[in-house]
Amino acid sequence: MPNQLKIGIVGAGIMGRLLAWQLSNAGHQITIFDKDPIEFGNAAAYTAAGMLTPYSEVESAEMLIFQMGMRSLELWPGIAKRLGSDLGFYQKGSLIVSHVNDRADLLRFNQQLNFKFNDFNLAEYADKPRQIDRSQLSQLEPEIASHFSEATYLPQESWLCTKCVMRSLADQLLERRVAWYAHSEITELGENFVQLNKQRFDFNWVIDCRGLGAKRDINELRGVRGEVILLEAPDVKVSRLVRLMHPRYRLYVVPKGRDNLYTIGATQIESDDDGPISVRSALELLSAAYSLHPGFAEAKILETKTNCRPALIDNLPRVDISQGLIRVNGLYRHGFLLAPTIAAEIEKAISFAGNYASPFEALFRSFEVEECA
Ligand SMILES: Cc1cc2nc3c(=O)[nH]c(=O)nc-3n(C[C@H](O)[C@H](O)[C@H](O)COP(=O)(O)OP(=O)(O)OC[C@H]3O[C@@H](n4cnc5c(N)ncnc54)[C@H](O)[C@@H]3O)c2cc1C
Repeated sequence: MPNQLKIGIVGAGIMGRLLAWQLSNAGHQITIFDKDPIEFGNAAAYTAAGMLTPYSEVESAEMLIFQMGMRSLELWPGIAKRLGSDLGFYQKGSLIVSHVNDRADLLRFNQQLNFKFNDFNLAEYADKPRQIDRSQLSQLEPEIASHFSEATYLPQESWLCTKCVMRSLADQLLERRVAWYAHSEITELGENFVQLNKQRFDFNWVIDCRGLGAKRDINELRGVRGEVILLEAPDVKVSRLVRLMHPRYRLYVVPKGRDNLYTIGATQIESDDDGPISVRSALELLSAAYSLHPGFAEAKILETKTNCRPALIDNLPRVDISQGLIRVNGLYRHGFLLAPTIAAEIEKAISFAGNYASPFEALFRSFEVEECA
C-alpha cells in the first residue's frame, strides 16, 4: 500500500485495541505495546458495564458526549459485522425509574434532558426519549411495573459485552499478524518513538492510549473509582437496561442477555484507589437492586470488580496531535460509548495529514504534558 504508515500504539484497552483495528483496516502497519497479557488485565475496559447510553449521559455531560455517542451507536453494528463475532450488542433501550421519595431526581433528570435538547435538533434522531406511565411500563418490563408508576424510556440506548469486544478485537488483530508486545510496560514514549527497556522502536506515528497509565505525563489526569457487581438472578426477568435514581449515583442494571446474569453498578467516587469494593458500596448497590426487583434477594453474587475511570478536569475526552505523537485520554465513563468515533476521527486526522476539519472540533485540544524522562 503506497501510504502505509508504521504506527506504534501504547496501551491495549478499548481505545488502543479499537484504534489498532481501525488503522490496520486502513492498511497501516501496527505495533501494540501493553503491560498486561493479551487475554486479561487491569484495563478499565475490563470493568466497564458496556453501556452505550448517550441520552442518559446528557444529564451530567456535555452535548459533545451525546453527539459522539450517537455516532458510535451507528458504528458499533458495523464493527460487530466486520469482526464477524457476537459482541453481545443489544439495542433495546433504557428505562429510568425512581422510588416515590426520589421522584424529584427523576423530574430533574427529565428537565435536564429537555433543557439541554432545547436548542438541539433532535429531529434527525429517530426514536426520541419519552415519559411513559405504569401501563406502558408493564408492556415493556412487566416485572418492575408494580413498583413504579412512571418511567422515562430512551429507546435507542444500547449495551454490549465488553469482554467479547476486547477478545474479538484481539483475535482479529492477531490473525492479521499485528505485532503485539504484551507484558511490556513502556516507561518512555515521544514523537516517533517508543522505548521498551533498552530497545527503541521508531514509527511514523506513536499513539498513547495508556488511560490512567499516562498519569505521570499528563498532570490533570485523575482516577474516578467505580465498583460493579455481577449477579446471577434466576428470579429476575428484565430485558432492558434499567437505571434507578439514587441520591448518590444512578444505579444501573444491565442484563447480560444470557444465563440470568446482570451487572449492577456503579459507584462514582473521586479516588484513584482501585482496591476491593467497600461494604458501604456493596450494601448500597445490592439494596438498590433489591428495591428495584425483589427477585434480586436470592441472586448469587458471582463477582465484584473495582477500577478507576481515566478522567480529565472537564470530564471530556481529548486527542492531542503533534508531530509524530498522538495522545488520547480522558474517556472517563464513556470509553465504549466514544471509542469508535474517536478511532474514526483519528484515522481521518492521520490520513489528511493535519488538514482535517473534524465535526467534533472540541475533541482536539492539547494536554499540558510533563516531559517523559
Ligand atoms: C466501574 C466502571 C464502569 C464503566 N462502565 C462503562 C460503560 O458502561 N460504558 C462505557 O462506555 N464506559 C464505561 N466505563 C469507562 C471505560 O471503562 C473507560 O472509559 C475506558 O476503559 C478507557 O479506555 P482506555 O483505553 O483509555 O483505558 P483502559 O481501558 O484503562 O486501557 C489502558 C491500557 O493501557 C495499558 N497501559 C497503561 N500503562 C501502560 C504502560 N506504561 N505501558 C504499556 N501499557 C500500559 C493498560 O494495561 C491498559 O490495557 C466504565 C469504567 C468503570 C471503572
